[in-house]
Amino acid sequence: MALKADICGMVLAAGFVRARILAPFDPVMDTPVPESYRTGAPSLLMAALPYGNLQDPAPPSAGGAYIARFAQRNYYREGVKQLQRLGAVFRAHYGGTKSDFRILCNSPVPEKPLARAAGLGVLGRNGLILTPEAGSLVIIAAMTLPFPLAQDRAEPALNPDHPFPWCENCDPVYPPCVAACPTGAARGDGTLERTRCIQWYASGHGDAVPQEIARRWGNRLYGCTDCQDACVYNQVPIRGVPSDEGPLPAYLDPVELGALSNEALKARFKGTAMGLSWLGPEGIRRNARLAAQSLLER
Ligand code: SF4
Ligand code: SF4
Repeated sequence: MALKADICGMVLAAGFVRARILAPFDPVMDTPVPESYRTGAPSLLMAALPYGNLQDPAPPSAGGAYIARFAQRNYYREGVKQLQRLGAVFRAHYGGTKSDFRILCNSPVPEKPLARAAGLGVLGRNGLILTPEAGSLVIIAAMTLPFPLAQDRAEPALNPDHPFPWCENCDPVYPPCVAACPTGAARGDGTLERTRCIQWYASGHGDAVPQEIARRWGNRLYGCTDCQDACVYNQVPIRGVPSDEGPLPAYLDPVELGALSNEALKARFKGTAMGLSWLGPEGIRRNARLAAQSLLER
């Protein structure tokens, strides 16, 4: 118990707002960690790193294409960096090899079911994990541990039997997260219609953005967060973890970006949340074009 408290205490001291333990071999757990992710580890640490919602700077007078807060720093890289540092501390204190402390972050690991099973948070009607400390404004990271620790459970207050336990005070048919969605993509049942979702296209998916979606694109260069911004659990000020990983300004000139070569775009966004291979220069250029069009029509 002391070991678990020490481990979780160090994770919280590193800037994570919540740390919970899953025991992948626990027979009562209805969402086992797939073998490919746990590699025989007796415990899995689940942790939530906040990016917060503190005020953005005012937009430039000429307008600008907006980068959502979750992408203004590379919070996934920050999470990995912190867990790597903690892994080294854990090895020094408790033994084990580097590969015993395997980090899973922004990977195919099924993070939402695991986060729910560990009581890291609950699923919201907007399809995101809501945490008690920082609403849905977190990234979720995990790390295998080479020693058995007691399994955390969803807390009674989080009512694991209810599909959306924290959404009970919202209108079930037309909750704020659904009302705020500019394209009707949010269904309010924990899922969304991907081919109507601006964030899906902004992440480089889809061959072409349908006219109907393009008209509602707004000044976004990267990131649609309307269904999060409207959520009642994100209305209080939430402080993000300080990070110098991949800093991006809140606004960039979309016309200037659209004129950059592939190499220049790759260099501009290298190491940032927009430098990921699945977005690529074509995706960034498409987003910039849509944002520029929207700014022109204002
Ligand atoms: S990300 Fe934007 S478009 Fe997608 S479901 Fe949320 S509000 Fe709707
Ligand atoms: S706005 Fe209401 S219904 Fe939607 S995710 Fe937040 S709490 Fe749930």
